[in-house]
Amino acid sequence: MWTCPYCGGTHGLPFHDSQLDGMLCLEPDCGRFEESHTDHDDLSLWDTTDIV
Ligand SMILES: [Zn+2]
Repeated sequence: MWTCPYCGGTHGLPFHDSQLDGMLCLEPDCGRFEESHTDHDDLSLWDTTDIV
């Protein structure tokens, strides 16, 4: 589960476009954007390769 690093809330909306990749906090008192720095797509690609 995603947890907002700014307010600790768990209501996040995944957001992706050509420049941003991360989660948008939906807490009314926060509303900040946390940019994702993890290369999870690469890891999942490796996992799939290993299994198959
Ligand atoms: Zn937040």
